[in-house]
Amino acid sequence: MKTYQLFINGQYVDPANGEWFDSIDPYRGQPWAKVPRGSAADADKAVKAANEAMWRGPWSKMTASARGKMMRKLGDLVAANAERLAEIEVRDNGKLMAEMLGQLRYHPEWWWYFGGLVDKLEGGLVPIDKADTFAYTTHEPVGVVAALTAWNSPLLFVAWKCAAALAAGCAVVVKPSEFTSASTLEFAALTKEAGIPDGIFNVVTGFGPEIGSELISHPGVGKITFTGSDTTGAKVYETAARSLKRVSLELGGKSPNIVFEDADLSAAAAGTISGIFAATGQTCIAGSRLLVQNSIKNEFVERLLNLARSAKIGDPMQSDTNIGPITTPAQYKKVLDYIDVAKSEGARCLLGGRPASGDGITGGQFVEPTIFTDVDNNMRIAREEVFGPVLSVIGFDTEEDAVRIANDTIYGLAAGIWTRDLARAVRVPKLLRAGTVWVNTYRAISYMMPFGGMKHSGVGRESGIDAVHEYLETKSVWISTAQDVPANPFVMR
Ligand code: NAD
Repeated sequence: MKTYQLFINGQYVDPANGEWFDSIDPYRGQPWAKVPRGSAADADKAVKAANEAMWRGPWSKMTASARGKMMRKLGDLVAANAERLAEIEVRDNGKLMAEMLGQLRYHPEWWWYFGGLVDKLEGGLVPIDKADTFAYTTHEPVGVVAALTAWNSPLLFVAWKCAAALAAGCAVVVKPSEFTSASTLEFAALTKEAGIPDGIFNVVTGFGPEIGSELISHPGVGKITFTGSDTTGAKVYETAARSLKRVSLELGGKSPNIVFEDADLSAAAAGTISGIFAATGQTCIAGSRLLVQNSIKNEFVERLLNLARSAKIGDPMQSDTNIGPITTPAQYKKVLDYIDVAKSEGARCLLGGRPASGDGITGGQFVEPTIFTDVDNNMRIAREEVFGPVLSVIGFDTEEDAVRIANDTIYGLAAGIWTRDLARAVRVPKLLRAGTVWVNTYRAISYMMPFGGMKHSGVGRESGIDAVHEYLETKSVWISTAQDVPANPFVMR
């Protein structure tokens, strides 16, 4: 078993309390690594190192172009290490190697894109309405960033948050999920190899209520960027408000995938399957509510059943596996509990609905791909995030119905629409309260495209040029060139 250390001020160090905990391989159900159980003392040390490095260290004195080059080099290093890092993520979260390798091969794009943006963050000269005055604005880093991440895609979230934060000139302290800390700790060494100065990128690990909460209430933190559940997100928001910290929240969803009768049904069926069963449903953008027009409902559900039945469940490292384990025992129990809730509410289980067993299934926790029909949007199975391979099928008659049901949720992360009607493809996205709408595709992301949620799905956006402004403050500078003293110093100029 590998024993990890925290990464603070450019060094791997033991946690202050000398405690570690096991990280479990969800496929085998066995411990495979030891992760430091960080505490308040470690959070404090990391935040102090980050402040020192950011405000007084070489990072603050470097040109924007030099910082950008280091970030692009970091992208190159991730590209060279993609396979190794992906394997570590699979050991920790049990998601498919095909998915994690795809993510790791794509990850460098964030460092290349935001690295290229660093020296283009220009301020502005304001043609000010006061005589004898020179006025301009600059963008300055918001302060040390605490980045808290979820367990499903650890290094993708590091890229989304930290590439934009470092482009803004901030230093970061990352607190990965206690279930999947190893890849972020391994990644830290690459920041050093890329030449990023000590203290600019730090990683502390441990449990949310022990070290995460210390980090978000620390007076040395200027901004919190969080990916996780809406319940924890609300707690983070509340704590941050006490010290008026800036906050971005990437939270959960109950995203509708809407299939109209005029859609290409093969493409829509593949998109629906990918929306709910990719990543074993453990994704914030899971299309967990299928809204399908009643005129094609039976035929469409039949297609889904055929595709879902062909899914191979088993070892996430194997290239022909489609569905891997559920990452944590608590999440496994939650998924099975929701299946019971759905049955008790009167939803009809067409497929799955049980723990999976058979060839290739080991000590880990597996759930069969599950499809419920006769779901009413008021049922808990349609309202609450399951975060597992469970699809709720809801019929609708008209476009108006579909939009109403789609929006009838506290969440607003994503939505999918399947139609061949061009006018509808333009009309419906405008009506949906979701941060991302995919038309005739699903689960596409890009470093260029803003991503984030409305309503309970979050606050702020990641990726795309504007994401860097989540980590910047605007400063206004006024310079008087007047030769005279103002006539009346007791009034506003
Ligand atoms: P979680 O809320 O349990 O934990 C997220 C992070 O917060 C972890 O690092 C955890 O240690 C930390 N944390 C927990 N309690 C804390 C506290 N009291 N103070 C400070 N930090 C604390 O979420 P999870 O189970 O790791 O992830 C699953 C959730 O994340 C799902 O709801 C999913 O939809 C959401 N998610 C959202 C996005 C997005 O981009 N919108 C992406 C992936 C996952």
